[in-house]
Amino acid sequence: MTGTSGPFRLPDDQPYWDAALRHELRVQSCDNCKESRFPSAPVCPSCLSEASSWKLLSGKGRIFAWTRFHRTYLPAHPAPYVVVSVETEEGVLLIGKLAKGEPSIGQVVRAVFETIPDPEGDWAICQWESESYDQNGGSRT
Ligand SMILES: [Zn+2]
Repeated sequence: MTGTSGPFRLPDDQPYWDAALRHELRVQSCDNCKESRFPSAPVCPSCLSEASSWKLLSGKGRIFAWTRFHRTYLPAHPAPYVVVSVETEEGVLLIGKLAKGEPSIGQVVRAVFETIPDPEGDWAICQWESESYDQNGGSRT
């Protein structure tokens, strides 16, 4: 892939992207009530605390919902492809591309990362694949 389809980053998101580049899945977690949240936000939606840290997730979850895209939005991701909403073991819902396999509701998946070389700074994308999928040739967490 080329660097022409890099992510749009907000200042609050930078720790997420830094962790992704290390192939770690992290989400913002409230230091007061411990609730994890995604997307990131300057205050906790539950208790309004501004104190937070970036919690390392297990990278495992289950498909909560999925859809198949039949239109190409980014050259690096030609259609058709499947986008899944994953309920992580920690309870946070994350959305991403299903890297391999066919989706089903409740299917156990795990995060896999692909590092994208970019002249303006490499970045990594979190995708999902079936926990039982044969890993030969795949990117590992
Ligand atoms: Zn809180």
